[in-house]
Amino acid sequence: MISTPAPTAGSAADDAGCSRGSAVVGQGQTRRGDRVRANTALRFRVYPDRGQEERLTAWSHTCRAVWNTALAQRIWAYKSARRVTLRAVAQCKELTEARRAHEWLKDLPAQCAQQVLRQLDTAYDNFWNPNHPAGFPQFKKKSHRQGIPVPGQAIQVRQVSRRIAQVHLPKIGWVRFRLSRPIDGTIRNATIGRDGLGWHIAFGVHRFESVVPSVPPGPPVGVDMGIACSVFVSDEAAARQRPDLLTPGEQARLRGLERRRARQLAYAKRHNGGRHSNRLRRTIGQIAALNARQARRRADWNHKLTTDLANNHGLIAVEDLKVRDMMRSAAGTVEQPGRNVRQKSGLNRGIADQGWGEVRRQLEYKTRRRGGELIAVPAAGTSQTCRNCGVRDPRSRQGCGRLFACTGCGHTEHADHNAAHTILDRALSTAGRGGVCRGGSGGPQSTRSPRGRGTRRGSRSREPSSTIATAL
Ligand SMILES: [Zn+2]
Repeated sequence: MISTPAPTAGSAADDAGCSRGSAVVGQGQTRRGDRVRANTALRFRVYPDRGQEERLTAWSHTCRAVWNTALAQRIWAYKSARRVTLRAVAQCKELTEARRAHEWLKDLPAQCAQQVLRQLDTAYDNFWNPNHPAGFPQFKKKSHRQGIPVPGQAIQVRQVSRRIAQVHLPKIGWVRFRLSRPIDGTIRNATIGRDGLGWHIAFGVHRFESVVPSVPPGPPVGVDMGIACSVFVSDEAAARQRPDLLTPGEQARLRGLERRRARQLAYAKRHNGGRHSNRLRRTIGQIAALNARQARRRADWNHKLTTDLANNHGLIAVEDLKVRDMMRSAAGTVEQPGRNVRQKSGLNRGIADQGWGEVRRQLEYKTRRRGGELIAVPAAGTSQTCRNCGVRDPRSRQGCGRLFACTGCGHTEHADHNAAHTILDRALSTAGRGGVCRGGSGGPQSTRSPRGRGTRRGSRSREPSSTIATAL
């Protein structure tokens, strides 16, 4: 079943009066309908024809220009004597004027441009929120991921065959996409964009969750996430090892392409004034495709892991890892160079490659939807604490292997299995007392460390005035 923005899919849409009929009525109506926010994102492969593709590409660059100009304007307004913080409402008025002056800006539907400004509002709000990890909004490069936001009332969806549907975009008309799963909710917004492998549309969908879900039956588990062993679940005998994201052949090809890119870049600099040749562009595209494939495989594995855990366990305990802090560079400063910089950067790559933060985020919403519970426990010393006798001793981890041998009671086990049990024990001993993060209710906010002032100041001073000048 597919639901157009028309209220086929549910009482939620009818309740809040945000069916297609009322959505087109006017701004006031939409505002009221905002109570029904998108709570799920569904992503589909889109097949625009040649003309549509060209126009979408042009629009995505226009969106980037709107973002960069609006950001530069906000920075300028704040640094000026007036010290004002501009918001989307004010900038939307200027946008209307600018659209009269520039044909290319006029081509982008006004709703999309306004949506970009609202996204900038959100970026600012996240930056000011001490519980949110976001830094200061960044200018977007030409090579940045392309995306065009479209508000929900501007699009329609219809199904044309079992697997093919069409989405109606303003000014462009019907665009085909592959309906790989049902859209079971009310579409609130959409973003159409492309990565290395092609065009996609992501619908923000409001799904009505009426029934209180029953708690999954399985036993409580602790989950230890690592680099050597991807994931160790406490009630399983072996680690769940994520296979390599690229086959050996693909890895070799990626290395070759990267060498080719370096060579072509050097040539372009020496002979072409830095202008990219068509061959270089093709190489960059091929590298992007391989990276996109890698990202998909990682996302696929993570989703399968978290869905499986959330389906089968009522209580899941994880370490409260500060991924951002852990990945802080070891480089240090010029006066005080850090130690083991290369090793640390390699470790950082490993941490980023695993996507722990994303796994945690998925576990949070998946356990919540299924009526389960996610508990994040302090991570300190989980790998050194014996689950048998509770003695914490770094010497229990002799050598660099994965073996845990307790110095207190002589208990030996796979180190990550032991850590998973320790995590579970900590969660069970703190459960119900508060002070720990509950999946869902407390959410990520309660456990993220509010960043210190130093970090924030640093991130704010990251945009020098020269960047603004080049963006304008
Ligand atoms: Zn012990």
